Amino acid sequence: MMTEAVPEPSEAARKAELSENLARVEERIGSACVAAGRKREDVTLVVVTKTYPAGDVRLLAELGVRHVAENRDQDAAPKAAACADLPLTWHFVGQLQTNKARSVAGYADFVHSVDRVRLVSALSAAALRAERELGCLIQVAFDAESGSVAARGGSAPDGVAALAEAVADAQGLRLDGVMTVAPLEGPLAGRPGEAFERLVEISTSLRAAHPAATMVSAGMSADLEEAVRAGATHVRVGSAVLGDRPRLG
Ligand SMILES: *Cc1c(COP(=O)(O)O)cnc(C)c1O
Repeated sequence: MMTEAVPEPSEAARKAELSENLARVEERIGSACVAAGRKREDVTLVVVTKTYPAGDVRLLAELGVRHVAENRDQDAAPKAAACADLPLTWHFVGQLQTNKARSVAGYADFVHSVDRVRLVSALSAAALRAERELGCLIQVAFDAESGSVAARGGSAPDGVAALAEAVADAQGLRLDGVMTVAPLEGPLAGRPGEAFERLVEISTSLRAAHPAATMVSAGMSADLEEAVRAGATHVRVGSAVLGDRPRLG
């Protein structure tokens, strides 16, 4: 009797679909790199698997994906546990409550959404407790009021330097760079390329004090070309790989 596992037809079809989508995204990133005169290996594709099941994460890993991202701890923690055998790097990219820091520190390798000093303290304590080092990116919100945190997360640009110092001084944390989501409000709304250029300027000044903080996380399915053109090192792509997400309430 044959005991080798034959994939369910639906699983094989899903894998073929993910493979095609990945190829299209790879083509877009490649073309954007050529247009920008950048090397393909200088841009890392992070696949945002939020709302999709652990089975999809497993298929993506089989297709060669090595970086995945989630934005809600409630979904991410069980998914990461179900995929613990896979050679994946986990990125946390969503707004993060301090009471979730301990859970996130258990599986995340990078947190892209560091936007307030209280969260830095919570992540530091959690990383120490988990005996893990967490890579931290400061999330910049170009639609946040000066001195504040935006409703959708992210520090106003004028808060970045202080947050960076806090991360750099915190045990268990490593300052790796900056992240943004193209703003929906304010003068840069609808102009993601300009927002990403501003983020790269912030990264440049940050690196004067913190040379190792080289990550620039920007660009999603709709605007990854603008991000690559501006100089992003990490693009976070969800729907272009996994399909349109059902609307969550
Ligand atoms: C969902 C999400 C993405 C991916 O968005 P798509 O439009 O599906 O590519 C990227 N970054 C963050 C922070 C997200 O929440």
